[in-house]
Amino acid sequence: MQATLFTPNITDAGHAHDCAGRANPEGNMNRQYELKELIQSGNFVDGKWLEAADHARFSVSNPATGESIAQVADSGPADARAATDAAARALPAWRDRLPKERSVILHKWAALIMANQDSLGALISLEQGKPLAEGKGEVAYGASYVSWFADEATRIYGDIIPQQQRGKRMTAIREPIGVVAAITPWNFPLAMIARKIAPALAAGCTVVAKPAEDTPLTASALVLLAHGAGVPAGALNLITASREHAIAAVADWLEDPRVRKITFTGSTPVGKYLARESAGTLKKLSLELGGNAPFIVFDDADLEAAVDGMLVSKFRNGGQTCVCPNRVYVQAGVYERFGEMLSRRVAALKVAPATDAAAQIGPMINARALDKIARHVDDAVEHGARVLAGGRQLAELGPNYYAPTVLADANHDMLLCREETFGPVVAMFKFETEEEAILAANDTPFGLASYFYSESPKRIDRVSRALETGIVGVNEGALASEAAPFGGVKESGYGREGSKYGLDDYLSIKYICQGNLA
Ligand code: NAP
Repeated sequence: MQATLFTPNITDAGHAHDCAGRANPEGNMNRQYELKELIQSGNFVDGKWLEAADHARFSVSNPATGESIAQVADSGPADARAATDAAARALPAWRDRLPKERSVILHKWAALIMANQDSLGALISLEQGKPLAEGKGEVAYGASYVSWFADEATRIYGDIIPQQQRGKRMTAIREPIGVVAAITPWNFPLAMIARKIAPALAAGCTVVAKPAEDTPLTASALVLLAHGAGVPAGALNLITASREHAIAAVADWLEDPRVRKITFTGSTPVGKYLARESAGTLKKLSLELGGNAPFIVFDDADLEAAVDGMLVSKFRNGGQTCVCPNRVYVQAGVYERFGEMLSRRVAALKVAPATDAAAQIGPMINARALDKIARHVDDAVEHGARVLAGGRQLAELGPNYYAPTVLADANHDMLLCREETFGPVVAMFKFETEEEAILAANDTPFGLASYFYSESPKRIDRVSRALETGIVGVNEGALASEAAPFGGVKESGYGREGSKYGLDDYLSIKYICQGNLA
């Protein structure tokens, strides 16, 4: 029997209430919410929390226990359309606000997020499963994008083009692209959506958003705080949906000519589907897709640093990040030693629910994810891999736990070499020469992140240029920063999030040619 831990805070469509005052009645940017108060179960459309049009709901579960946390709106095309209507109506006024005004609101939102770091972090852990310290870290990471784009809102420059003809002035200005649809995954339920909504609002766009089925609660909480910080009704709209309903709801956005841009983070097959299906209205797309990151350890590496980098890059979020190393290439001279050092540290990682303060790895997001990990490890062992650590489910802890795993003697016939495992599994391949490592690293349709460890300056220069990925970590495992351009090449997608380039995806360039001047 599943228990509902929190009372849904939902209104009937016919009796929707405007939450502008309720979200933050005192206008206090430091208002702290209890975790329970952050949980919303409706769609947020035009400043109101609403039931789905057909009153459908679905259940959100705690991956550590399988218990239901809340029932939330299960939206369809009518809800998606209502969100677009609201965003289209709100666009002219939001676009016409002074950049400084948009900036002030976004800074207030960032402050409110940080004032609620503890309860938001706990909510992330509750619905996504990551350890509490990581949940709180994600809150700070998401807020850093909101602050960054709050500043960037005031730096949207154009150009005066050097004069080509007398009596003519040519200028290029950058304008908000229009209504933006944001679709996000479950692995970073706060950061992934924050780093789409913040640049869109900063640029003067309005937003319709749909978070993943597994983690809608954090996204709703974020929207609650945005509204409390002064984002006006209609500028930011959010609908939640089960996987079954999401396809039809999102299809409405794909076909609607008022939606001018899709920003998506998720798997490559879904990214390709969105690109195909939105072609009818030629929308601009940003696609942050899957990875299959190589991690190369050369003979001349600082092995302690390489092991530290591997732990940070591979085991954060239980290995469920798009930039996690998926294939680890270790040069023959240090292969066995690196394997020993790494497996000792990995075997010591504490696997536990987020409620355990010592937890370093939580449950995987759901049974499908766990099955994929088990399938990849079993397939690798059948193809000759040696298990140096882990290699099994931890059913004694709960339904979705897998032991952090190190496999040696991996080869290219194994499934985990071709597909993203998305779990706490390191597969070590042996190589002899630099050329061999680079060829193997690039032998994938994906190109998001890559890592390598070497102490040789010439090799560092050569290898950083040779790797076909959008992001390269050199002697470093933690790459993400709001100040850096995050994104991939090849089938890992296009567009960049964060940095001074991050606003470009939400702007279009208008060329103005004025003639008949004296
Ligand atoms: P996913 O299955 O592609 O889902 C991502 C989002 O798309 C979810 O909101 C999902 O809704 C929705 N969706 C799925 N199928 C859809 C369809 N046919 N029409 C409309 N919406 C659809 O990916 P995921 O499993 O949640 O996330 C893991 C993947 O994301 C990995 O491949 C990872 O590498 C990638 N990722 C990439 C980055 C990056 O920055 N490059 C960052 C994080 C994750 P439902 O939840 O209802 O299915």
